[in-house]
Amino acid sequence: MKQAMALTIAGSDSGGGAGIQADLKTFQELKVYGMSALTAVTAQNTLGVQGVYPVPKEGVIQQLNAIEEDLRPQALKTGMLFSSDIIEAVAERIHSFQWKNIVVDPVMIAKGGASLLLEEAIDALKTHLLPVATVITPNIPEAEVLTGLNIITADDKRRAVEKLTELGPKYVILKGGHDENPKEAIDFFYDGSELKELRSERIPTKNTHGTGCTFSAALTAELAKGKSVEDAVETAKLFIQAAIQNSLEIGSGHGPTNHWA
Ligand code: PLP
Repeated sequence: MKQAMALTIAGSDSGGGAGIQADLKTFQELKVYGMSALTAVTAQNTLGVQGVYPVPKEGVIQQLNAIEEDLRPQALKTGMLFSSDIIEAVAERIHSFQWKNIVVDPVMIAKGGASLLLEEAIDALKTHLLPVATVITPNIPEAEVLTGLNIITADDKRRAVEKLTELGPKYVILKGGHDENPKEAIDFFYDGSELKELRSERIPTKNTHGTGCTFSAALTAELAKGKSVEDAVETAKLFIQAAIQNSLEIGSGHGPTNHWA
């Protein structure tokens, strides 16, 4: 059988819990060969982000070229992209290489409040990257920035996923982890016509560092194996549930999600 191969285009977390480290660990857990193109180095631990050092655009492009030349991915995800320069370069490469199964996690702000995307880059995300996306995985605050809506009720969520598909992606997963529901995390999954609610029990823990990265990486890994978006989302949801359940009490801030028990 052909080896499944996935790429993450994202930032590094020196603490190992989020960013490309979380993505590569997730790919490995799901038996997918992982590749990475680094967009920024962050100095970070479980307490937060202490510094951000973006990779020059040319460096990002060269990593993508090297991967295309020799190791084509069957699916890829984008995470922290930081600037409009990097976003435009990544979108252009995805388009010209005709890469498929594109998961865009529109990473904006870390749990501790540090900015992982410059304000000036939001327009580029909307106009360059979302049109080439297969599926986007915003949380509620990110969906609010992208749509301009205030998202509180289920009706607001419905309106938001519709508005997000108008920006170009074929599928939208609006993650419910940030809403006020104390019992359940309800994700809204929209394919442009039908809306599904994906429900899971809310697990009470402060150790959720890297949750978004891990979820979108699991989704990407399943797409790389040839699964449909519908099936990949189901598996990714189970994977992240288990990873929150088995999260690690390490460091003195928000510990990382972790898949093995
Ligand atoms: N650091 C990097 C490099 C990331 O890509 C991300 C998430 O997307 C984060 C930090 C955010 O981590 P947290 O789950 O703590 O918000």
